[in-house]
Amino acid sequence: MIEIKNVSKWYGQFQVLTDCTTEVKKGEVVVVCGPSGSGKSTLIKCVNGLEPFQQGDIVVNGTSVGDPRTNLSKLRSHVGMVFQHFELFPHMTITDNLTIAQVKVLGRSREEATDKGLKLLDRVGLKAHAHKHPGQLSGGQQQRVAIARALAMDPICMLFDEPTSALDPEMINEVLDVMVELAQEGMTMMCVTHEMGFARKVAHRVIFMDQGRIVEDAAKDDFFGKPHSERAQQFLAKIL
Ligand code: ADP
Ligand code: MG
Repeated sequence: MIEIKNVSKWYGQFQVLTDCTTEVKKGEVVVVCGPSGSGKSTLIKCVNGLEPFQQGDIVVNGTSVGDPRTNLSKLRSHVGMVFQHFELFPHMTITDNLTIAQVKVLGRSREEATDKGLKLLDRVGLKAHAHKHPGQLSGGQQQRVAIARALAMDPICMLFDEPTSALDPEMINEVLDVMVELAQEGMTMMCVTHEMGFARKVAHRVIFMDQGRIVEDAAKDDFFGKPHSERAQQFLAKIL
């Protein structure tokens, strides 16, 4: 579903990604971890073309992200992305947040979009909040709306960039529970997260990044058993 092939990227003189190669198969859950500044967000943004890269290529479901002829908006319309900060439209109701892209991008009728949006809102346990504005919800609730909004587009895969790291501790699990459920239903997911409980529960593979490189790309059990690189061992020792 996602093939990352020898991707390198520079911000000016600074090389942020060096020869990154990995893949996420259909139905696979891959967790990306690593120290702050190691390039995790940059790599995941490259996957749906939010950041350009200078070398290598990324192919998502057969579409080359690096090919200048690729319609990136079209690609993004079926790659779900959930960020650290919820990025809901603050001036719109939850229902409108859930429906606007379905109507504007996918051309669904308002009725169909609302129906789908409300079903997904129910699924993340927030049906009663449809009429509210994002500011009236807690961070955890807003993040669940953001996940529902991404799912409303019928994504072929989901990208998460530290979706729980800006949340108060008591709200982390309600978001992780939704992600676990998605994973167990077979959604293809690439998740930047330091929630190792989540990784242990549902990840198939764990990628560890350091200074712009993928230094470890292992099956979950191998990763938690004993990572090869010393850097990953130290990292795990600190967060576990
Ligand atoms: P992570 O998500 O692992 O914390 P990032 O991908 O956000 O890492 O950043 C990787 C490196 O790239 C960091 O050193 C960061 O300062 C740098 N960086 C990120 N965005 C930019 C940018 N727009 N311009 C210049 N440097 C950037
Ligand atoms: Mg980041």
